[in-house]
Amino acid sequence: MSVDTAELKRLSGAHHWHPFTDHKELSALGGPRIITHAEGVWLTDSAGVRILDAMAGLWCVNVGYGRRELADAAYGQLTDLSFYHGFFKTTTAPTVQLAARLAELTPPGLSRAFFANSGSEANDTIVRMVRHYWALKGKPGKKIIIGRDHGYHGTTMAAASLNGMPAMHAQGGLPLPDFAHVMAPYPFEGQGEMGAEAFGRLAARTLEEKILQLGPENVAAFIGEPVQGAGGVIIPPDSYWPEVGRICREHDILLIADEVICGFGRLGHWFGCQRYGISPDFMTLAKGITSGYIPLSAVMVGDRVAGTLIEEGGEFYHGFTYSGHPVACAVALANLDIIARDGLVRRAGEEIGPYLRTRLEEVLDGHPIVGEIRSEGMIGAIEIVKDRRTRERFPGNGRVGLMARDHCFHNDLIMRGIRDSLVYAPALTMTEDEADEVAQRARRALDLTARDLG
Ligand code: PLP
Repeated sequence: MSVDTAELKRLSGAHHWHPFTDHKELSALGGPRIITHAEGVWLTDSAGVRILDAMAGLWCVNVGYGRRELADAAYGQLTDLSFYHGFFKTTTAPTVQLAARLAELTPPGLSRAFFANSGSEANDTIVRMVRHYWALKGKPGKKIIIGRDHGYHGTTMAAASLNGMPAMHAQGGLPLPDFAHVMAPYPFEGQGEMGAEAFGRLAARTLEEKILQLGPENVAAFIGEPVQGAGGVIIPPDSYWPEVGRICREHDILLIADEVICGFGRLGHWFGCQRYGISPDFMTLAKGITSGYIPLSAVMVGDRVAGTLIEEGGEFYHGFTYSGHPVACAVALANLDIIARDGLVRRAGEEIGPYLRTRLEEVLDGHPIVGEIRSEGMIGAIEIVKDRRTRERFPGNGRVGLMARDHCFHNDLIMRGIRDSLVYAPALTMTEDEADEVAQRARRALDLTARDLG
């Protein structure tokens, strides 16, 4: 389909409100780039330019773009049954089949799936379930949910309250009451001389201090991404999660693992919980569940909570029109088939993930503004610093990450600038040649960033 780029840009400027966008800035830049096609890890824009997508869209297109099987799954389901819902004692076959499949794939004890449309909705759902659970347990005072600095859990009022992002909180009077935050296990910033494992335990113990300060009788749950994604690909030391598990158990706090980015192979395991030995009461799933082909999210509910809510709770007054949409579930089932059949979990953890990291290390070896390259499976970050030895940052509070991101963009490479880092999370299907190309283009972008910084 050919498109009139100038006209679309004009219409976009007049009518389209983009997510997370400064519209004045966008219009000064002449409007958005319009993506028209995609195949594998390559996007094509309306001018016919091919762009290498090292972000899998928004950390979601795990099986790569253009998979015919997923289009066929959607088409087949749309033809058989375009929609029916799960209210009023009904359901559809793909919905049930997907719930059972997720119960099998996720760690033991997460036996039930509640479906929604986005990660934000799934996390909002968890907030209600957590509070209802404690009320049923006769502890209605246990309401506070603790998240972390740099955490990202979504954009609805409750999900954004879980986030550890002051700029979001400053808009709209967030967080809501009964949300608190503790430090992130961010070794590059906090580890100093103590070593990663000691720092991991220290970061976890800030959770215990917060629980004791608030009173365990008031704290309902802790939420964390196994690896923090949108906060800058913050990879915790191995000591962190076991200590968090101990703290939650000892203080009777529910544990929520937000696997929206980490799930479905990204960390080289089906789920981040398996990588870090986390035994959560809830798991949030979205993005890779359909590889972004169609919106879908799920809350995996652990047996302890599900048992209480089901046995003692009666009807739970919560659900979305499209909870368990049959077309989305059919696409998810086909997507899980591809991940399993093509061995993409192993590929992320043992093949292309380490390969891409090694190539970046080689190409950026000794680069004057690169302070660290870190990765886990097929997600990683390049920290940009003024001084490699002291890790001193450039002034400007995140300005250099955006400069580097813009140089990538103009080099037809999509990476994301988060504070002072450049992050990546490509499709798990990326080839070695494409990984080489990512490394070369990232090098060019960082050279240009260093040049601009003078
Ligand atoms: N949780 C995590 C870890 C995420 O990264 C995101 C989105 O990036 C969300 C939740 C929110 O998902 P959505 O944008 O689908 O609402």
